[in-house]
Amino acid sequence: MKPKLAIHGGTPVRREFLPYGRQAIHDDDIRAVTDVLKSDFLTTGPKIEQFEKAIASYVGAKYAVSFTNGTAALHAACFAAGINEGDEVITTPLTFVTSANAPRYQGANVVFSDVDEKTYNIDPKAAEKQITPKTKAIIPVDFAGQPCDYDALTGLAERYNLTIIEDAAHAIGAKYKNKHIGSISDMTMFSFHPVKQMTTGEGGIITTNSFKYYEKLIQFRTHGITREESKLMNQGGPWYYEMHHLGFNYRMTDLQAALGISQIKRLNQFIKKRKHLVSRYDEAFKSIQAITTPFVHEEAQSSWHLYVIHLAQSQLTTDRKMIYKALQSENIGVNVHYIPVYYHPYYKHLGYLKGLCPVAESLYESFITLPLFPSMTEADVDDVVKAVYKVIDYYQKDDAS
Ligand SMILES: *Cc1c(COP(=O)(O)O)cnc(C)c1O
Repeated sequence: MKPKLAIHGGTPVRREFLPYGRQAIHDDDIRAVTDVLKSDFLTTGPKIEQFEKAIASYVGAKYAVSFTNGTAALHAACFAAGINEGDEVITTPLTFVTSANAPRYQGANVVFSDVDEKTYNIDPKAAEKQITPKTKAIIPVDFAGQPCDYDALTGLAERYNLTIIEDAAHAIGAKYKNKHIGSISDMTMFSFHPVKQMTTGEGGIITTNSFKYYEKLIQFRTHGITREESKLMNQGGPWYYEMHHLGFNYRMTDLQAALGISQIKRLNQFIKKRKHLVSRYDEAFKSIQAITTPFVHEEAQSSWHLYVIHLAQSQLTTDRKMIYKALQSENIGVNVHYIPVYYHPYYKHLGYLKGLCPVAESLYESFITLPLFPSMTEADVDDVVKAVYKVIDYYQKDDAS
């Protein structure tokens, strides 16, 4: 007799709900933030540059510019790259909406390129076919922390004179051919939302080796204003400053930066723990035929933001929706990354049709994200494994075993 699923009134594997991700805050982090509260600067203070230097030095980039969140950072990068009305920007549909929204903020048209069926990352060959004289940039996304094929992408950028703005919201601490993510692309965005590898509450940053981009990013995040004498177009007094373009107030606070400075000290530990949890999942699921575990690149190191499994529908008697609901009833915090961006009504109204990226669309139908975060215990992993076995066993086709 198979055990009764919680969704059918059986006892759930866990009594308390296990979220799919959560932050790891220590006493050191709390002290760092309260110290700022007692200091002179809550914003535009010394913690900002300290945090930016810490990130730049960690990833091996010359410059880092912090922002209120990753979305603002990506918007600023699109501005710095000179993306404008009528330009085209290529990105993946398997991402959070931000990767497409940021170029939209600048008035650009977004072109979705299909993904590789193994890595789930943008397929450079598909992207190349969509390059036109209007293409200005590519925004690749390191899905789940797995770096994209940067040899191929930087090759395209050189051949067609494109800017690469990397959405590495999942990938701080990841490496591609021994180079840190954040040191490869023209500009790289990291997010410090609480579900990401390290957090500042809300927060984001752009890393770059280009002084030209650096200057534009700095000005954009403060209303397009400069006080630098060499840049002023007119003369004024000592109070004088000038606004040169329509920038935003996208500044991170010192409270956030102080949290970031404290968190980055434990980033390698966080990633090590994630890797360990992933190896336990991989080991547990390799004997389940209906599950494909995440791809591991030979020449890259994932930072393991997400653990996304792919279900073989042909071996199951039900669909992903049912498996999702069944796992959730066992109190396992499952999730789905991502709804293809152009399925959202906003993009649908712009004219994007289903069928545009068949690989991404079909992957989306069979993806489930399992819980993964540094403070997960071995017993938490046991629970997830137990629940996955319980649910998959129940829905496994008899002739598939
Ligand atoms: C989290 C995330 C972002 C945006 O980050 P915010 O800091 O929440 O604005 C962008 N792209 C991807 C792929 C993300 O996962």
